[in-house]
Amino acid sequence: MAQKHILVGNWKMNLGPAKAMEMAAHFLPLAKNLQKSEIWVTPPFTSIAAVTDVLKGSKIRVGAQNVHWAESGAFTGEVSVAMLRECGCSYAITGHSERRHVFGETSELVAKRTLGALKSGLCVILCVGEKLDERENGATLEVIKAQLAPVLKELTPELAKNLVLAYEPVWAIGTGKVAAIKDIEETHQGIIGHWQKSCAAPCPPILYGGSVDPDNATAILKVQGVGGCLIGGASIHPEKFPKLVAIAEQ
Ligand code: PEP
Repeated sequence: MAQKHILVGNWKMNLGPAKAMEMAAHFLPLAKNLQKSEIWVTPPFTSIAAVTDVLKGSKIRVGAQNVHWAESGAFTGEVSVAMLRECGCSYAITGHSERRHVFGETSELVAKRTLGALKSGLCVILCVGEKLDERENGATLEVIKAQLAPVLKELTPELAKNLVLAYEPVWAIGTGKVAAIKDIEETHQGIIGHWQKSCAAPCPPILYGGSVDPDNATAILKVQGVGGCLIGGASIHPEKFPKLVAIAEQ
């Protein structure tokens, strides 16, 4: 059977507990008859427990938008794997472009988060992607290789089993500009090729992210090497997200 497409909603800094519960309740029926796709939702930290409560017993997975590698301690503003698990999280996103480019997280820091969470048994979605000038200079794959390098240095095949990648061109996130289908395919194939040369484990599923909506999802999900989508804006839209799930189920 073909690999199921994973649709991950990144709710970013939207929806406090009360509104997040409403959104989760609205999405709950979507999970009933999923055959070809999986739904994962990623509320802000303070809404995670409320959302897992609403989604308990359903197939929708709940995750966090970041994670720290230490068990506990003097790390103001951070959240550990154990804390996330206690709230019902089964995965975390690392290296989102907003973490890298708004908050200055380096690839080394992102690798610490990624490897630490994987070692603690949490599934991780590791985001990579180039800025506009980097694409225009033909440096897309080099940028992604550099972002992956500190993770690949220590990644074992066992840890890789719990990893998902997300290719998100920075210039396509929240802008309404989607990468051209041929560029998505070329980049995903480039990542797969690089992975196969660098790691003994099979390449993880690679999601595409960047202004995915019901008008472009059909074409994106058909691209060879696209394992699903990481969705921001449309993931908290009461009509668009159900439409995206319907498209993934076609
Ligand atoms: C994202 O947050 O990862 C994202 C891709 O956002 P959007 O879908 O709004 O571009």
